Amino acid sequence: LLSVRDLVVQFPTRGGLLTALDGISFDIRRGEVLGVVGESGAGKSMTGSAIIGLIEPPGRIAGGEIRLEGQRIDNLSMDQMRTVRGRRIAMVFQDPLTSLNPLFTIAEQLVETIQTHLHVSAKEARQRAIGLLDDVGIPAASRRIDDYPHQFSGGMRQRVVIALALAAEPELVIADEPTTALDVSVQAQIIDVLKRLCAERGASVMLITHDMGVIAETADRVAVMYAGRIAEIGPVRDVIKDALHPYTSGLMGSIP
Ligand code: ATP
Ligand code: MG
Repeated sequence: LLSVRDLVVQFPTRGGLLTALDGISFDIRRGEVLGVVGESGAGKSMTGSAIIGLIEPPGRIAGGEIRLEGQRIDNLSMDQMRTVRGRRIAMVFQDPLTSLNPLFTIAEQLVETIQTHLHVSAKEARQRAIGLLDDVGIPAASRRIDDYPHQFSGGMRQRVVIALALAAEPELVIADEPTTALDVSVQAQIIDVLKRLCAERGASVMLITHDMGVIAETADRVAVMYAGRIAEIGPVRDVIKDALHPYTSGLMGSIP
């Protein structure tokens, strides 16, 4: 589905250049869950930002390419990127308020996304929106849909964000630490909802997390990042059993 080749991302600094991604290559296959782990600053979020076309200037892609179904997406204009971002690739961040606008109701945000991307009537869009909220496990979805983001608990809000991410029927969902801010007891539920709904829709997931336990439970393959590179990538079972990189071996100690 997605291929990343020799991707380099750099930020100019006073002393020279900071290389945030130092030539990374990997694929995301259709329908798979690819876990991405690595310590703070390893380049996990930057990889997601590069794919979705959201690297903050003066940072820039200094080399390599990113293809979605064979088509280059690393060199698109903002305008062209708009048809990819949100529509074909959706993003879920740690903080729900990065995705949700506090000034609009859930209905307004979901309906707008559905109408923008899927070109259905307002009535049809609202029906779909309620269906999505139902799917992500919001009780009384047909009533709660007219509430504002702040009227939901943290866990429920992140479910709404997942509904919004899925609204345009994307082929890939990139989730960057989607549960880090949540209570441990709801973390597994949220990951479970994300995984189940993407599987039902045939969407791939790139799941960025610090938590190797989550990867072990959820991912098909895992990429271990270290200092802007991919230290190793492979089926979760293999990487856990037979870590090639010392950093990975250290991580495995944290699996319960
Ligand atoms: P964490 O687990 O803490 O979220 P991460 O693996 O997601 O870490 P990134 O955010 O991808 O790490 O950062 C990779 C590198 O890029 C780091 O060295 C970071 O300092 C640098 N970086 C990230 N954003 C910027 C920015 N806006 N300007 C300059 N450097 C940045
Ligand atoms: Mg990050």
